[in-house]
Amino acid sequence: MEIVKTIAEMQSISTKHRKRMETIACVPTMGYLHEGHISLLKKAKEIADIVIVTLFVNPTQFAPNEDFERYPRDFEHDRTACEENGCDYLFYPDTTEMYPNGFNTTIKIRTVTEKFEGVHRPGHFDGVATVVAKLFNATLPDFAIFGQKDYQQTLVIRKLVSDLNFPVEIIVSPTIREVDGLAKSSRNVYLDPEERQKATIIYKSINKTKDAINKGERNRYKLNELLRSSLLQVPEVKIDYAEVVEAETLSELQEFEPNMKVVILVALHLGKTRLIDNEVITIPKID
Ligand code: AMP
Repeated sequence: MEIVKTIAEMQSISTKHRKRMETIACVPTMGYLHEGHISLLKKAKEIADIVIVTLFVNPTQFAPNEDFERYPRDFEHDRTACEENGCDYLFYPDTTEMYPNGFNTTIKIRTVTEKFEGVHRPGHFDGVATVVAKLFNATLPDFAIFGQKDYQQTLVIRKLVSDLNFPVEIIVSPTIREVDGLAKSSRNVYLDPEERQKATIIYKSINKTKDAINKGERNRYKLNELLRSSLLQVPEVKIDYAEVVEAETLSELQEFEPNMKVVILVALHLGKTRLIDNEVITIPKID
């Protein structure tokens, strides 16, 4: 595995592979890799000849009050994890390589970014869209793999790719969970043991809501109420949002129709840690 630090070198490596008719899959990450990231890497390996993992803790997607400084980092661990899982190139630029003096461009996507994460993390998706566009231009991939864990992000990336005509196929890979259901996340290390135990309420509440849908509940208000009251069984939980919405547009319909795809979206604070999770489910036909 080769470590690549500059955009110019990354572009020339990718161009070389493309000339050889080899396909490239890119896996964008902020590092501190866990099994969720590794599952994306494995998916990349399955579908493409060449796998590029990008490792960049992108300052522009963190608001000033967020955890950019304390975001966990462990380059040696990440390098080994990539090497052991078939990564060909680890693209590891520093901040001045990505944002040199005078950098002055921001990609702003409307509508899909204006709810949920966009409300609670203003500017977050501008940072994500801009850095992902730059990472695509550096790595020149045929495929890019993203985790369903960041559900709204996957919608934003799809919009980026279609609106700006990136010739990249976006693949969304399922959320990898701990045995007790907590979605794996680099931020889980912030949780103390008590909080870690309490965090299981997220997946439990999502599953309760899923059960209600499967039993025929289609009313969004009732589903939201069930989801929220279940989450609030843990008094330390502070909900940013907990909602069931239509999965493609995030529309807040009053009543869901059979065969409609919906997503159960949760973001909350537990102590100093912000956690997100989601599940997509199809509204069943019940006679
Ligand atoms: P991050 O390093 O947190 O920016 O995540 C990099 C990529 O890994 C994103 O596409 C995430 O959605 C994905 N990812 C993070 N956690 C998980 C998980 N538990 N399961 C699957 N993918 C994940």
